[in-house]
Amino acid sequence: MAARVITVSADVEGRSILAYSSPHAYGERRSWLADALLPKMGPLRLERAARVVRVIPEDERYPQPAVCAPYQSASGLGFMLRPRLPLLFVKTRRGELLPDARTAIAYARENVSDFAEVLKVLEQHAPLVFDPDVVTRYQDKAPLLFCDIATPYATFGHQFFAIPAGFYVSTDAGVGTVIGPPMNRTPCLPVQTGMIETDWHHRLIFVVVRYPQFSGRFLLVMPEQDLAQVYFVAYRDTLEASVEHSLQHGGDPAYEAHWIELTAQLAAEGKGVLSRQTGIASVTLDCIHCRASITLAAEGQLPHDHYIESFFVQPYKQMRRQRRRANHE
Ligand SMILES: [Zn+2]
Repeated sequence: MAARVITVSADVEGRSILAYSSPHAYGERRSWLADALLPKMGPLRLERAARVVRVIPEDERYPQPAVCAPYQSASGLGFMLRPRLPLLFVKTRRGELLPDARTAIAYARENVSDFAEVLKVLEQHAPLVFDPDVVTRYQDKAPLLFCDIATPYATFGHQFFAIPAGFYVSTDAGVGTVIGPPMNRTPCLPVQTGMIETDWHHRLIFVVVRYPQFSGRFLLVMPEQDLAQVYFVAYRDTLEASVEHSLQHGGDPAYEAHWIELTAQLAAEGKGVLSRQTGIASVTLDCIHCRASITLAAEGQLPHDHYIESFFVQPYKQMRRQRRRANHE
């Protein structure tokens, strides 16, 4: 059985997780809000993580590590979490961060002259999570109820926030779930990493974020940005893992021989990536000219056509393809 991610849009009391961020959901308004929120609408959107994290221009000469298979495999592990609605962090006039989303929004609303633009952004995104017919029913009685909503968060310990993820995970024995910063991507917030033993712990997960640093009164993180990545690890195997020393530099000599042969074959067929480096990146002891003086080469004028060239072949990708083909047959 593979890992199962089970999304949940309401908490144990049946309250929508997105509604946590509303500063207006009191009394009957609470049920109006609950009615209007679309079903199955959790705070974060889950999508399989993409293996390729940036578009590589065709003329780019050195697309490492972007074209490297292990790099792509890490980038593509598990799922990417993205907020559906903006995340709003607000500082008071004294420069202190308010501790949760609904308090921050309430403060912004009370000080509307300082936060008009931010509140406008929340209002623009709010329709994404509401049923318009239900909103129409209550809008006149509580107009702000359907504007002031964002991705919820609350203080978690000292100087950290927790953002509810809106799912729990069930894994095989010994397999845990890691939730942490998106791999090989610039995170939109200082996300911390957690590993949950989801082979037995089945409760809603959250993303932990260090208090973000920013100048000014607010930080607005727009929706659909890469917030965190979720993937699965064999935590019990990791606990029992050992470190050994060997004089043999690979596992099986036959495998090593095959690797070397394949590398030579790919190179002979010209199947690979040619990279050419110029400037300081081409200054090396491998160059006869540079060997005379590294300082002169590094700090003086390099000859007009000074470059180093390397040809990368990808036996790993090739062997992976072969293995997959063999496993499918
Ligand atoms: Zn040189």
